[in-house]
Amino acid sequence: MTWNLYDRLLASAGTDPAICIEKDDGSTLSYAELAALSGRFASFLASIGIGPDHRVACKAEKSVEAVALYLATLRAGAVYLPLNTAYRPAETEYFIRDAQPTLIVCDPKEAAALRAITAKAGGRVETLDSNGEGSLADAAAPCPAEFSTVARAKDDLAAILYTSGTTGRSKGAMLTHGNLVSNALTLIEEWRYTSHDVLIHALPIFHIHGLFVAGNVTFAARARMIFMQKFEAERILTAMARATVLMGVPTFYVRLLQSPNLSPAATAHMRLFVAGSAPLLAETHRAWKERSGHEILERYGMTETGMITSNPYEGPRIPGSVGRPLPGVALRIADPETGAPLGADEVGMIEVKGPNVFAGYWRMPEKTAAEFRADGFFITGDLGKIGADGTVQIVGRGKDLIISGGFNVYPKEIETEIDAIAGVAESAVIGVPHADFGEGVTAAVVRTPGASVDERAILTALAERLAKFKQPKRVIFVDQLPRNTMGKVQKNLLRDRFADIYQAKT
Ligand code: ATP
Ligand code: MG
Repeated sequence: MTWNLYDRLLASAGTDPAICIEKDDGSTLSYAELAALSGRFASFLASIGIGPDHRVACKAEKSVEAVALYLATLRAGAVYLPLNTAYRPAETEYFIRDAQPTLIVCDPKEAAALRAITAKAGGRVETLDSNGEGSLADAAAPCPAEFSTVARAKDDLAAILYTSGTTGRSKGAMLTHGNLVSNALTLIEEWRYTSHDVLIHALPIFHIHGLFVAGNVTFAARARMIFMQKFEAERILTAMARATVLMGVPTFYVRLLQSPNLSPAATAHMRLFVAGSAPLLAETHRAWKERSGHEILERYGMTETGMITSNPYEGPRIPGSVGRPLPGVALRIADPETGAPLGADEVGMIEVKGPNVFAGYWRMPEKTAAEFRADGFFITGDLGKIGADGTVQIVGRGKDLIISGGFNVYPKEIETEIDAIAGVAESAVIGVPHADFGEGVTAAVVRTPGASVDERAILTALAERLAKFKQPKRVIFVDQLPRNTMGKVQKNLLRDRFADIYQAKT
């Protein structure tokens, strides 16, 4: 039996003309129409010789045509390689050189820059939309809509997804058909997904969250999709009247909470709110429950592993916890240095193993080898602990751990305390080189608009609540925290920016 994700899970949606994607302009595209479009694209890809192991890159704004290209790439047996639309030409060049796609599909406005890159790095560029000049849509129009999906094995590559680049340069995670099939099936089961569901899709589709968690799961369940070009709080709130599920990053929920229109009535038709990709603050969880009557279901995953844990569909969803490992996923906490297993409530490295775990980093064999233990567990780079009840808590990223005066300081603990202080909107705690302590605990703080809270007030409040070694040596006010396109705080940029504050003579 083929493991091609398309044939296994996604194709059947295309046989039902009643299920559809609703677009921003209110028009709909049935899955049968989407299947015909992806069939034409796949026929075209095959006609230009694209097949197994070729990489098809897509650097285009979110659209149903981009979704069709993703499906077509799977159908042709090739490897899908979505690129973040925010990348500038120099970054794009890096990824093109690294991934060496045979074909790059883009928006017309990007074509000239990409052709300049492929002139040096190789590959062919086609535009996705028809806008007068020749495009993929034009080239594929005369191609047959019927296409016989190329068989693939469980361990064959389906996609290369670059990680978000939160901790450094993005790495290409090689995901197999087996990885994607297992993750989609698990999530459908866990989250009780059915063909009666209607998903509000407001995430980007170059990332695992929007493409595989929201996308694959919805197609595989033959559910409907309200497909939004971008996040707009009021439009999402309106759509909730006819939707059942929202999948989002924590920032979605923070911004929806700012609307006066969020209420139990506005969310009455909804059955599930999922958050992931970054920590959901307990305060957001609490406020959402109070304002909407629903508990957000927080889950944890990463590009390399798909989803790892989820809070329960039924039963209590614990604020600050990411729930339990998903069925089939083995998760353990290990000593970061020795790899020795740790006990309940001990903080250590989160390591995972299962059918969801990727095949390695693209063209980085040494890094791949270094991130796996001999018994096959993948070292996530995230620090966490498992409670006696089996629930997992993420403590932060290993790279963000601060060692100050020989003590381990977990930034999240301090951020939680700072965020609770009146006048603070948000904070990020980092370690900065310090002559006496090795690293000095340093807080970057954003004030709420109009607030005048100062360094002294924050340090005074923290002195009562935190051991001396955890207290920041300095509090620096900033207008905003640097974030990547997934809304994650880029602490490496903060560390660079404040690298010499304890050295600088004033
Ligand atoms: P890079 O690996 O390039 O630095 P990244 O790790 O942010 O970027 P992703 O694969 O998009 O790239 O994100 C996975 C990471 O997101 C996880 O390793 C974890 O640190 C974080 N994350 C995901 N879900 C949660 C969650 N519910 N709570 C806390 N952190 C989360
Ligand atoms: Mg990562």
